[in-house]
Amino acid sequence: MSDAADEITQGLASLGERFRADFASAANETALREARAQVLGKKGDLTALLKLMGKVPKEKKKDIGAAVNKVKGEVEEVFNARLTVLAEAERRADLNARPYDLTLPARSPNPSGHLHPLTRAKYDILDIFRSLGFEVGWGPEIELEDNNFTKLAFPPDHPATDMQDTFWVTVDGAARARTLLRTHTTSVQVRELLTRNPPLAVVSAGAVYRRDDDVTHSPMFHQVDGFMVGEDVSFAQLKGVLSAFARRLYGADAPVRFRASYFPFVEPGAELDIGCVFCEPGEARAKCRVCKSTGWLEVLGCGMVHPAVLEHCGIDSEKYTGFAFGLGIDRVAMLRYAIPDIRVLFDNDPRFLAQF
Ligand SMILES: [Zn+2]
Repeated sequence: MSDAADEITQGLASLGERFRADFASAANETALREARAQVLGKKGDLTALLKLMGKVPKEKKKDIGAAVNKVKGEVEEVFNARLTVLAEAERRADLNARPYDLTLPARSPNPSGHLHPLTRAKYDILDIFRSLGFEVGWGPEIELEDNNFTKLAFPPDHPATDMQDTFWVTVDGAARARTLLRTHTTSVQVRELLTRNPPLAVVSAGAVYRRDDDVTHSPMFHQVDGFMVGEDVSFAQLKGVLSAFARRLYGADAPVRFRASYFPFVEPGAELDIGCVFCEPGEARAKCRVCKSTGWLEVLGCGMVHPAVLEHCGIDSEKYTGFAFGLGIDRVAMLRYAIPDIRVLFDNDPRFLAQF
């Protein structure tokens, strides 16, 4: 029966050499834990030796048991020492490696937004008029029919007053004046002229509403409207102010022309065109879809304020004259950023807005 004791003693001796070599050659923590399992695991070498203990004679059991425990302790000790060495090596390798590319731009936790292209166009337009001496006025988007049409001398049968063109607003009580979503910012002009005395130079900007909806028309769009009223305000001043405006907005070299046109609240009326900024005369112009090969782009409508409008607002049309103008902010933004469809301006799609 002493064979079992000898077998254990020999086993411990060969195990002692083997586990030290195995632990030392383990390249990482996983390999080290596997090597340890081969000694202390369920099917490990030391576990197999322990199974022989039952066959060891009583008088030798104490010594053999102590020898087994000693080896067991050594296994744990060497294992822990090797684990520390491996962990340190791994940390050093981590520090020496270059896991982060410090040249990459940082990802901002709060990407900051920017102004909508329409807002920017609006501010730019208002800034130019402010620098030319205009004040900025304001009026409500829900407007009285009187301010929107009647005081501006719109004939009752004018197409703009048609039910199909206008969003009317229901107001409780039949006796109340008729109200609508303003169809132009010219209503601000009426409000200013009704409450203040000339000389006046006011520009206003904001949303206006008409029942249109296609690639170049939206039921809501944005206008700038302005006027100058005083003694001896002439068409020459209109041309000077508006030419200066167009050249500041589209470039000092932009060709400008005035073309006779009709608007109900001015007389005479004109449209201001600038030379197409998208094409040059020649083959490119023949293909230009923006100016439809004419070489000119409509920028704004203008004219001398009709005496009837001044009289409707309580201003002496014998003493005072004035000019007025209006333009679409959406069109300015579309021309400036080459946006082909007006509707994308109002979709609030960040993929579109992030491009500006
Ligand atoms: Zn063109």
